[in-house]
Amino acid sequence: LISKLPDTGTTIFTVMSQLALEHNAINLGQGFPDFMMSEELIALVNAAMLQGHNQYAHMCGVPLLREKLAQKIQKLYNSDANAETQITITPGGTYAIYTALTSMLKKDDEVIVFEPAYDSYIPNITVNGAKPVLIQLQYPAYNIPWHKVHEKITAKTRAIIINSPHNPTGAVINESDIEQLKLIIQKHKNIFIVSDEVYEHLIFDDIAHLSILRYPELLERSFVCFSFGKTYHCTGWKIGYCIASPSLMHEFRKVHQFNCFSVNSFVQYALAEFLNNEDAYLSLSNFIQRKRDYFQNLMKTTKFRPLASHGSYFQCYSYKDLSDENDMEFAIRLTKEYGVTAIPLSSFYQNKRDDKVLRFCFAKKEGTLKEAAERLSRL
Ligand code: GLN
Repeated sequence: LISKLPDTGTTIFTVMSQLALEHNAINLGQGFPDFMMSEELIALVNAAMLQGHNQYAHMCGVPLLREKLAQKIQKLYNSDANAETQITITPGGTYAIYTALTSMLKKDDEVIVFEPAYDSYIPNITVNGAKPVLIQLQYPAYNIPWHKVHEKITAKTRAIIINSPHNPTGAVINESDIEQLKLIIQKHKNIFIVSDEVYEHLIFDDIAHLSILRYPELLERSFVCFSFGKTYHCTGWKIGYCIASPSLMHEFRKVHQFNCFSVNSFVQYALAEFLNNEDAYLSLSNFIQRKRDYFQNLMKTTKFRPLASHGSYFQCYSYKDLSDENDMEFAIRLTKEYGVTAIPLSSFYQNKRDDKVLRFCFAKKEGTLKEAAERLSRL
């Protein structure tokens, strides 16, 4: 059998969720909330189905939803992205990233990827015959070492993937990162940016999310990817969107139309209506920050040491003081013997770099977090 992805195994999220299930462990691994989403939004979905929105939606997404998104980003990021030519609704953020890369990459193109990297990026690149060029973020703050980026750019560099707030670390980019990006695309006219911003509304301590959408000169060369699942606590709905310059979006849609074609229509009508409720997304940062703080407080009773988390719904912990095992072994033992599942950070490095760090998802009910911390304090 000829494999296009000979080195790719099963995603760590599936592996760890399966293990959690087998051992009846509290799953703080895969990132998803365990609390109820908005019942108002569910009612809107029901209403949309009963109103008859049950046939194919527009290939690029329900026009009203795209219009509402254009209004939202205008207000939030002062962005002029055009609903008709620059926004496409997708079945999730990961799909948007995959489609962006697939629409642009040719064989042997190089793509700069920062590690730890969300685990879909590299297979998305290699399946297209392109090559990931890996740069490790600076442990433990996980900053971008820009001097290395400049060094690694070649005539073959076609793209750079950025992700803020960052999965798995919760790091966020700042103004100087934005300046560096501007410099790079000014200097290298063939490079485009894929910006994974699925945690845009999950950012703490009053830090402003520096969306690429704020910078017209960057958006001109970018695909910016978002997720409704993260914002509205419905990861199982698998719906997101991509915003790009008109010419990049034109290419994106060529791939999208022959892949999933269009996204379920009733959810789109419901979301269009729900976007009128600004508070639903503006209040999210506070809500989730309280969970981060609650979890951090509980974890003080354990020997795990927190790394900084400025955004996303993940918190990394070092277990250096607890064990010498590698992080995969330790995560497996934690599930089996203590009934708590987390994600080992080595899974986000091609060279399996092991800093003895685990990622915990704190988008959980207080009771879940309390029970998990209690179990972890027994170590
Ligand atoms: N984004 C989720 C996480 O980081 C996982 C999504 C998935 O399992 N594909 O945990």
